[in-house]
Amino acid sequence: MDVTLSNTEVIQGIQLISRRWLNLQEYQSKKLMSDNGVKVQRFFVADTANDALEAAKRLNAKEIVLKAQILAGGRGKGTFNSGLKGGVHLTKDPKVVGQLAQQMIGYNLATKQTSKDGVKVNKVMVAEALDISRETYLAILMDRSCNGPVLVGSPQGGVDIEEVAATTPELIFKEEIDIFEGLKDSQAQKMAENLGFHGALKTQAADQIKKLYNLFLKIDATQVEVNPFGETPEGQVVCFDAKINFDDNAEFRQKDIFAMDDKSENEPIENEAAKYDLKYIGLDGNIACFVNGAGLAMATCDIISLNGGKPANFLDLGGGVKEAQVYQAFKLLTADPKVEAILVNIFGGIVNCAIIANGITRACRELELKIPLVVRLEGTNVQEAQNILNNSGLPITSANDLEDAAKKAVASVAPK
Ligand code: GDP
Ligand code: MN
Repeated sequence: MDVTLSNTEVIQGIQLISRRWLNLQEYQSKKLMSDNGVKVQRFFVADTANDALEAAKRLNAKEIVLKAQILAGGRGKGTFNSGLKGGVHLTKDPKVVGQLAQQMIGYNLATKQTSKDGVKVNKVMVAEALDISRETYLAILMDRSCNGPVLVGSPQGGVDIEEVAATTPELIFKEEIDIFEGLKDSQAQKMAENLGFHGALKTQAADQIKKLYNLFLKIDATQVEVNPFGETPEGQVVCFDAKINFDDNAEFRQKDIFAMDDKSENEPIENEAAKYDLKYIGLDGNIACFVNGAGLAMATCDIISLNGGKPANFLDLGGGVKEAQVYQAFKLLTADPKVEAILVNIFGGIVNCAIIANGITRACRELELKIPLVVRLEGTNVQEAQNILNNSGLPITSANDLEDAAKKAVASVAPK
């Protein structure tokens, strides 16, 4: 069978996976970078047009760059629902900064990486603009296929890197890093050269690459992406943009960074879910999915689609689950009026299925659940869980496997 995912479904999938990680705005990433010797422009952050104007005056720069802060790339080419085009603007006049900020703050910015409604802008970054003579691309990321960090770069920066990789793959350079030996001088030099930096600029670029690598390690990042990693006519190598992803397993030793997590772009229901250690993603179908793990969530989405249905949302339950969490999960799932059926698909590895079953029966009774509920449990203590469900006297449909569960859930809702 052939499934074609729409662009929004792909974006939702990416969101589902990436919400598992902490997200920082560009200005927060740049603060970390400048604190660690990485070269970024002088900047202020503002959340009103008036503050943006004041910041622009205070910068006292020859030229100013105003940048909408959202957790998505492609802002430069984005559009606001205020009508303003472009989430990145250059101007010499602080007054213009105020006027532009007025058309950014409080409005939604849609880019290639957001849904078509875009994301509401709460903050703008007001930075000293620098002339750029050349834009390159640089990233450091944890790469499964290399079993460790890898440096990725291209002399073709500023633009969509996926496009460079697709059209001119010979312009993408990789340098595997041995995590025990660290990034070697020679590797940083080689990357700087591949990026097209020469002479004193090459030394400077290599130094910046090393500082970025040290930061990558220090903050437990899974990715540091700088696009553009640029060169100025005055002979400076500058990180003009920054996106950092973090390893959420490192939260215990990165408390200061995790405290900066910008949740303002989440849906209120996502934040409500987070209170109970649940991860919620809203979609636009009518079958609510209660699963554990992002991988199982994606598989559940696929199999519902394959059987002609559409998921309404996902609630991802972590390990170490408590009965009360299951109750909260059901409350959140059923709060969405689009939901016409619930599909529970839990694989009990760390999770004890009996706890889930008890949570489900309690939620059904207390919430007086009126919509069809299909449950597929597998793994630890599954027999006891089945008994709890079967003896509950509640109209719960049990499923043998994922395929069976998806079929039953799809059959239980009106065709859309
Ligand atoms: P993105 O569109 O979300 O990736 O945002 P960027 O921060 O990368 O900005 C988009 C583009 O604006 C960059 O690729 C640059 O071409 C341009 N830009 C950003 N900052 C400056 C600056 O200080 N000076 C100049 N001349 N261009 C800039
Ligand atoms: Mn960029």
